[in-house]
Amino acid sequence: PETITVQELAARMSMRAVDLVKELMKQGQMVTANATLDADTAQLVAEDLGHAVKRVSEADVEEGLGGAADTDADMKSRPPVVTIMGHVDHGKTSLLDALRQTDVVAGEAGGITQHIGAYQVDLGNERKITFLDTPGHAAFTQMRARGAKVTDIIILVVAADDSIMPQTEEAISHAKAAGVPIIVAINKVDKPDADPNKVRTDLLQYEIQVESMGGDVQDVEVSALKKMNLDGLQEAILLQSELLELKANPDRPAEGAVVEGRLDKGRGAVATMLVERGTLKRGDIMVVGSEWGKVRAMSDDKGAQVKEAGPAYPVEILGLNGVPEPGDTFHVVESEARAREIAEFRQRQRREKAAAKSSGTSLEQMMAQL
Ligand code: GDP
Ligand code: MG
Repeated sequence: PETITVQELAARMSMRAVDLVKELMKQGQMVTANATLDADTAQLVAEDLGHAVKRVSEADVEEGLGGAADTDADMKSRPPVVTIMGHVDHGKTSLLDALRQTDVVAGEAGGITQHIGAYQVDLGNERKITFLDTPGHAAFTQMRARGAKVTDIIILVVAADDSIMPQTEEAISHAKAAGVPIIVAINKVDKPDADPNKVRTDLLQYEIQVESMGGDVQDVEVSALKKMNLDGLQEAILLQSELLELKANPDRPAEGAVVEGRLDKGRGAVATMLVERGTLKRGDIMVVGSEWGKVRAMSDDKGAQVKEAGPAYPVEILGLNGVPEPGDTFHVVESEARAREIAEFRQRQRREKAAAKSSGTSLEQMMAQL
């Protein structure tokens, strides 16, 4: 049922909560400022106070976000978005760094590597892969918890001299829970005590049967340190993404998810966005979580200014009026008024949820106590 706290209702009528509490008392309702009122009660008291009431449901405010469905003809191939997971010290960071250096055009652009939470490597011939470079399972679960399902493929890094460890297990459960396919990267094969076959056998206990054991999970031996067989791993990713037939319509207003957000002293709110469909353009107005803003500037992971960002192309943007959370979704909308309306609506909802939680006393409970 729709509810509103006394505090919130007072705020919307631009009156003090204590005055509204008094008004409610006059009408025989003994409530505190934190109490929640049902929509009918709230409407009655607001009208008594001379306010015109317009009830707005979530469906009304959020309606139309996302727009029409895409047709098959609109859909174009897009790069895969990959997350690297695995046990501590098995080589996630080393592998991310090594893969990043395989970009064929990075040198030409002369840009300086920017850590924006995600990067894209261009392998030439229209082949691109996007990596989320916030390794760690917390980032992945946080994004999923907020509704973002941006990862297409998980690279499970397992050190060949250590095999399956607790966080390897954890990564496997995350991948399974999310229904995201795994590619096993057996790392550190340069080490004298490396035993890749032990990794393959041990994985069977977790119902991961790699190809060389007759299963259908790809496994690739690599050394992040010696940069061995990185191209083999990239081929595996591209093959997996072909199987997934990853597509998106680039010709529509953008929507996607926040990878990272922070407050920069000089530049204000800075957020890394990953477009899931559509194309994000400089000047676009967006609502993101309970924030909104106008894209003032966009730059990529090489520090280059960009005017447009299509599906799976990570960009850092400036111009939001607040810092969004990783996993918040964003939508480009037609006007600032619309963006503000949705953002404010979501802020109210968030406050109301928090108030309902902290008060712990419902109107019914209050009445029962009287
Ligand atoms: P993370 O905790 O998973 O991010 O692991 P790191 O990338 O920080 O690597 C942990 C340690 O393993 C570092 O000392 C790396 O230099 C080393 N390391 C990573 N990859 C390899 C590899 O392929 N071979 C060898 N011999 N050492 C590696
Ligand atoms: Mg690391």
